[in-house]
Amino acid sequence: MDKQNQEHGDTVSHVIYIVAELLVVGALVLTACGSAADKGGVVKALKPAVAAQTTTSIAIEPGHSSTASGAVSCDGQYKEATITDDIANRVAQKLRDAGYQVTVYRDNKGDFEGQTYQAFVAIHVDNYCPNGNQTGYKVTRYAGTRGTGLLNNGDASDRLTQAIWDTFGAATGIPQDHSAGRYTDDFIYYFGLPGGNNGVSANTPGTIIELGWMQDPDLSILINRPDDVARGVADGIVRFIGGN
Ligand SMILES: [Zn+2]
Repeated sequence: MDKQNQEHGDTVSHVIYIVAELLVVGALVLTACGSAADKGGVVKALKPAVAAQTTTSIAIEPGHSSTASGAVSCDGQYKEATITDDIANRVAQKLRDAGYQVTVYRDNKGDFEGQTYQAFVAIHVDNYCPNGNQTGYKVTRYAGTRGTGLLNNGDASDRLTQAIWDTFGAATGIPQDHSAGRYTDDFIYYFGLPGGNNGVSANTPGTIIELGWMQDPDLSILINRPDDVARGVADGIVRFIGGN
């Protein structure tokens, strides 16, 4: 879908516009507790919603990879960006091997903002050295409930989020983290998610996963079993698309 088609759709397809407008009004009600910027993200997604067609591409975004920073392991040896880049590329390869089209985006916002995909998944890793022995992965869709990452409305982003909840732990053995206090605003209002400030289109099912913590026991799994980690994400995407 290119920009010209979107604009063309705006002018000639009034009925579709009205339907999309109703959907956006519904979305605004859902995000009524968010900031003005959050609402802006939803409104901005109107154009892709108007001209929505099918897409066969999956978008994977390795967090911080354009700046090579993010969290750092407590011994200074590992950077979040290095891990997310490695895992994202492995996820993409597994999906391509299964026949899917995949694009891996660095976190350069303009590259995916407003675009529509079969699924958008952002990949991050946590760390906080003063508080050791933290373990667990967590997944959320945009504005997901703290502790579950879901809105329990059964929509595509909820189903994608739930699918990765289910497959990631099974593949890695990393426990689920349902501690509401660890669902920060940066996490649940992630900029790239549908609804986020620089998010993919409202039509794109989107989710973000924090794979675990850059301290053991999680770090050893992320470093030594990257294929299991990648499989945990890729399996969830395939399960979601297959059941869609
Ligand atoms: Zn991160």
